[in-house]
Amino acid sequence: MTRKRVPPPREAACLSQPYPSSQKGGTVIAEFVLDLLTHRRLLADPDGYRPEHCPGCGHGALHVHDYRSRLCQEPGVPTVAIVRHRCVGCGGQWQVLPAFIARHLHFHWVLLMAACATPDAEAPETPPTTRVPSADTVTRWLRRLASCGRVLAQVLASSAESTLVAVAQALGLEPTRREVVDALGRPFAEVAALAHRLVPGVRLM
Ligand SMILES: [Zn+2]
Repeated sequence: MTRKRVPPPREAACLSQPYPSSQKGGTVIAEFVLDLLTHRRLLADPDGYRPEHCPGCGHGALHVHDYRSRLCQEPGVPTVAIVRHRCVGCGGQWQVLPAFIARHLHFHWVLLMAACATPDAEAPETPPTTRVPSADTVTRWLRRLASCGRVLAQVLASSAESTLVAVAQALGLEPTRREVVDALGRPFAEVAALAHRLVPGVRLM
């Protein structure tokens, strides 16, 4: 006898909303930038973070527009600079976020992942940080991970990468977001960057 599985609760709407097609500008995640040192090296290089093409209109010329400050919360480094480029073609402004910083969340991914580790999993050591998330914040993160990951799975299924399609096919119809992460077997930062690359706007949590 198979036990009928209770479908996971619906995810917050903000997690599954792609950028509207009319949107000019937004965030590009630099998937290979997983540490502060690499981020600083790229910032120091005028072309380090310059997108080759405008993600909106495809134009090949983008100029540095400005630098914004973003929470980082590593010891001694509460914030980091994030570069924003402006497209010569459409005027869209694109900020390039290093993958280790979580889009829309106020902590970096290593800390988030440690805080959300399941008791039976090998928990990563909580990294040193300038700020500790409150119990309410961690509860909200855990709730998001336990919510419906169907859109995330669909994003993988519609990608051109056969390994991702296979992962999506092996998931049930109603996976949780954590199940999607577990099936991919990648750190949160990489899953979030991947989802945003495949369908800009879609978030892990
Ligand atoms: Zn453009």
